[in-house]
Amino acid sequence: MTRTPSHDGAPRDIEALIEIMARLPGLGPRSARRAVLHLIDRRGTLMAPLAATMAKVAETARACFNCGNISTADLCPICADEARAQGQICVVEDVADLWAMERGGAFAGRYHVLGGTLSALDDIGPEDLHIPRLVDRIAGEHVREVILALNATVDGQTTAHYIADALEGTGVSVTSLAQGVPIGGELDYLDDGTISAALKARKAL
Ligand code: ZN
Repeated sequence: MTRTPSHDGAPRDIEALIEIMARLPGLGPRSARRAVLHLIDRRGTLMAPLAATMAKVAETARACFNCGNISTADLCPICADEARAQGQICVVEDVADLWAMERGGAFAGRYHVLGGTLSALDDIGPEDLHIPRLVDRIAGEHVREVILALNATVDGQTTAHYIADALEGTGVSVTSLAQGVPIGGELDYLDDGTISAALKARKAL
């Protein structure tokens, strides 16, 4: 009798859970197996509340219709907060970058999440990045300054210049985070102090 070599002796449901967990960023099959064992050991205090919270967020999570931030309502807490209407919009590539800026605590305005960068290789154009929506917000929210906090990659910088061109004639000033964002570096990996410094020393594009 032959046995399937990949099977590690776990029941099918648990095997299925391991396979799903292994798809998470930063987890491979080995870490997924350890995480699942850890969860099963603490199924009352950790696994059950995790499952309940995940089910709730899976049902309620959506993109803020104004800025693209992850929210559980149509409008995210930042867009819903009138105190954040400072006449400044910080443009970021993704929600992880928005969270990184918020952790820095140096920015009091609102955000615009592009959901990526222009990329000929991946066939991502301006219409895919909510750039028309950004242009609409300039007038609607009395925006004076758009701060581009895009990664220092070739695609990030191409996108920055495209947005600067798209906003020409709107009277808004377009600035960019100062050097300090390493080439090819992603905002999410910078420490909070570096982000604050790059924001304070931003320059006109
Ligand atoms: Zn929002």
